[in-house]
Parts: sequence; structure tokens; C-alpha cells
Amino acid sequence: MSGLPENVKIREVGPRDGFQNEPEVIDTEDKIRLINLLSATGLKCMEVTSFVRPDVIPQLADGPQVLAGIERREGVSYSVLIPNLKGLEKALEYREYFDEASFFLSASETHNMKNVNRSVEDSLSGLEQTVPLAIEAGLGCVGIIATSFGCPYEGVVPQEKVFALAERLRAAGCSEVGFGDTTGMANPLQVRGFFREAFARLDGVELTAHFHDTRGQGLANVLAALEEGISSFESSFGELGGCPVPPGATGNVASEDVVSMIGEMGIETGVDLKKLIAASAEAQSVLGRPLGSHVLRAGPVDWHPSR
Ligand code: ZN
Repeated sequence: MSGLPENVKIREVGPRDGFQNEPEVIDTEDKIRLINLLSATGLKCMEVTSFVRPDVIPQLADGPQVLAGIERREGVSYSVLIPNLKGLEKALEYREYFDEASFFLSASETHNMKNVNRSVEDSLSGLEQTVPLAIEAGLGCVGIIATSFGCPYEGVVPQEKVFALAERLRAAGCSEVGFGDTTGMANPLQVRGFFREAFARLDGVELTAHFHDTRGQGLANVLAALEEGISSFESSFGELGGCPVPPGATGNVASEDVVSMIGEMGIETGVDLKKLIAASAEAQSVLGRPLGSHVLRAGPVDWHPSR
């Protein structure tokens, strides 16, 4: 095993990636309450909404109200997802409420077309115009590459293609590039090889892993990435979230499962696991259905109901 990182940064994406994939629109007040609970857990980064067109994603149409309504905590970096130049223009009207912007595209032509109805090159050249404007506005920029480890429509996505996209996002000014296993197709051996190569290819940019637990391999992939030295992850409380296409591609790896596992391994996240579990329990009662996270059901390893 190579050296594991001593500290890990987790970006909580449930309020965006999770809430947008719920069939019902969650009340703005409930979203604000849940985000405030998450802010109090010690998480340093949170993606709280997106500026995708409200007719496309009505679940996040209240982005501005959510941004204005949450308690902004010292030491927490709040981010929003921005699809394109128009989305950035809209978001900048609320600039005072967030610190970072995430931009996404798929590495797979078919997935990108189904998701945003554009070719990968069209998406990328759009981002190359948009990211510099976000930087001018003082925002930290994160580029997220979906289907980095496989595509539900095309199968294998060549690593070379993913790294070429990452290099262009870095050149556009992204200080962080995230690799999404959007429909849970990655395996741990693939993840190790992928990040070994990514470190060799992509210096000067923070590398982030975003795994889904669609096929139960989420935590195994987190471990594989840790073993290659990845210290930045995106995850979702309660295992909320997924991907709009194809249907059924649910389940970001749960933040509390990640925090629990790596905490038990002696790696620092700064997150209070019990507070995080309480936030997920609250999400569970808001949504009125059991959520998929393991640690939400079982409790932390040092927790016993009889005590
Ligand atoms: Zn996701």
C-alpha cells in the first residue's frame, strides 16, 4: 500500500446532487434546515444548489432562496453547480452567497447528449468561455467529469479521453477536477490505475473522486482512491442522489459511510459523525422513506443503543 493521506476533504453534494434526484420537490424551508444541520457538522465544503434551468430541474428552482436563506458558517465553502454561461450569469446575481462554482460535462458523447443535449466538445468549449468569467468573479472553480469510469450507454470510456478533458479544464482555470463514477461502474483496481495515471498527468490541480454506490462498490472505490493518495472526495448524506439519466442510476456514496470508514482508519475529516448522522436522519424524516446509508441504519461503531 502506498501512503494514505492524513487529512481528507469531503464536499457534501446531497443538497444539489441528492435533492435534484428526488421525485418530489423538497420545501425550501426543509432544504435550508438540512443545509444548516450539515453546515454544523464540520464539513468544509458543500454544494448547495444549481443554476440549471428551472424547467429542466424544478427540484432546484429555489436555488436563490436557498442560498439567501441558509446560515453561512465561517470556514465552510459553499458551492453551486453551473451548467453554462447563462447559468453563471444568473448565479452571479447571488454572488455574495457562495464561494465556489462547479462545472460539469460527461466524458461520454451519448451520456452528455442525453444529459444536456450537446456534444462533449460543445460542452467543453462552453466551459472554456465560462470558467474564466467565474474566476474573474473571484470564485474557486471545480470541473467535474461525469462517466469518468464508464458509461451506461457506451461502456468503456477511454482514460485518455478523460485526462484530455481534465487538462483542458485545468487550462481553463479550474483549480480542482473531479472524476465522477456517475452510474457506479468503477471497480477498485480500475480506480487505482486511473488515479495513479491522473497524478502523473495532472499536476497543479486538486484531484477529487466522486463515487456512486449503485452496485455496492462505492466504499471499495473510496479506499482504492485513498491508497493512490486521493484526499478529496464528494459524497452525499443519506446516500441521496444519482443521475437523471439513465433512470435508476441512484446512490452517491453516503457521506456518513465515508466519514465513518476513513475516521476508523485514523484519517482526519474534521466532521462530527454523530451530527452528520443526525442530519441524514432528519432528511429521512423529511423525505418519508428509509435512506440507503449503512451508518445511518447501524450507527457509528462506538455507538450502542443500550448505553
Ligand atoms: Zn453523484
